[in-house]
Amino acid sequence: MKTIFEKSNNAEGISLTDEVENLDFLKNADLRQGKVGLPQLGELEVMRHYKELSDRNFCIEKGFYPLGSCTMKYNPKVNELLASLEGFTSIHPNTPDEYCQGSLKLMYNLQEELKVITGMDAITLQPAAGAHGELTGMMIIKKYFESISDKRKKVLIPDSAHGTNPASAHMCGFDIIPVKSNDKGQVDIDNLKSLLNKDVAAIMMTNPNTLGLFEENVLEISKLMHENGSLLYYDGANFNAIMGYTNPKLMGFDVVHINLHKTFATPHGGGGPGAGPVGVVEKLKEFLPVPIIEFDGEIYRRNYDLKNSIGSVKAFFGNFGVLVRAYAYILMMGKNLKEATENAVLNANYIKEKLKNYYDLPYDFPCMHEFVLTGERQKEKGVSTLNIAKRLMDGNTHPPTVYFPLIVHEAIMIEPTESETKEKLDEFIDTMINIAKEVESDPEKVTSAPHSTPVRRVDETLAARHPDLTYKE
Ligand SMILES: *Cc1c(COP(=O)(O)O)cnc(C)c1O
Repeated sequence: MKTIFEKSNNAEGISLTDEVENLDFLKNADLRQGKVGLPQLGELEVMRHYKELSDRNFCIEKGFYPLGSCTMKYNPKVNELLASLEGFTSIHPNTPDEYCQGSLKLMYNLQEELKVITGMDAITLQPAAGAHGELTGMMIIKKYFESISDKRKKVLIPDSAHGTNPASAHMCGFDIIPVKSNDKGQVDIDNLKSLLNKDVAAIMMTNPNTLGLFEENVLEISKLMHENGSLLYYDGANFNAIMGYTNPKLMGFDVVHINLHKTFATPHGGGGPGAGPVGVVEKLKEFLPVPIIEFDGEIYRRNYDLKNSIGSVKAFFGNFGVLVRAYAYILMMGKNLKEATENAVLNANYIKEKLKNYYDLPYDFPCMHEFVLTGERQKEKGVSTLNIAKRLMDGNTHPPTVYFPLIVHEAIMIEPTESETKEKLDEFIDTMINIAKEVESDPEKVTSAPHSTPVRRVDETLAARHPDLTYKE
């Protein structure tokens, strides 16, 4: 496909006025001498160009998107409508409190809703993503131990954890100690016990863990940690598996982040703005980032005056437009958030049971909202998990997460979410079964996939390390 610069023809795409503005205030040397260099095309050709580009993109509105751990659920369009209301879009972040009561009320109410959903005692909406929430939470934990003059330096992290967990803890200056998983895919309690001592500040856990399995011993773990004077951090990226059924507070956690762009249906992907609100228990409240949105019964206000605050982790109060969308979603769903969880779990178990005869299932237990297969059987025939993922792209499906979690070789991590119909799930199951059959009958077809995408195989390392994003004539 040609770039819009290459398509440029002699049409006059933009007609600027002939009137010359008074530019005396600019130095001659600052004025452009040559042409502006914008492509010239008629409106229809411009529309066709961008439509063609957008058709090449993949999104949830186009097809099934079972990207494990990422919760690619449908983002209802009514949320976009509400976030684009002028009262929200034209407000300046420095508007005095008394002139932006509506927006402050929305943030306050969202904090209150998230308190109920997480069970926590206080919330900050400031962090811009899950990983940013982890960093915020670990900064709070660090500051808490400083405040009681305790020099603990170690953070325990299960070997199934998301890579951002050790990264966030390390950025805060903690030493990372991995905890082993047992043969049921759960935290190995004996290994955990052997690692516990007065140097351990916290454990970072995901529950359900990244294998999609609920940690059965979570209460014992929180008891062990607290008896040791340590805190518990809950990575809430998998909240879609528990909403309304349980919460991190009931499990004994002290700090939690949630990804609004996963569980609460705000758009994500492509590095777009997200939100990773953090909740804490009462004794950690004083360390939250500022501002906190408060209500005194009459007026909503931003409180910057938190004595032991870790400071601000983002300008103003975070990605406001994302908060509006998430709040709209929570109000729209109400008690049905619980039903969303129910269906997410049901959908994952349905696919798992249908596929487990065709792909190996390393941890064969009832799963929560996602599960992990291994492509090892296919690998023996010379077809890697990467090839299977590429072949799925021919079936108008976004590939699942692959090669994560690291404890499963040739991992294929499938998360259907609650958004999909049974027909869509069956279609995906058929596609996966067909690929498994192709591996037996025509492996070449899988190893050379994708066959139908505009770009076939890319060098992923090169694309990530040396992205070529500018047009040069
Ligand atoms: C997505 C995810 C994160 C990180 O969240 P971002 O919003 O992408 O920064 C952390 N942990 C787990 C388990 C995740 O799935």
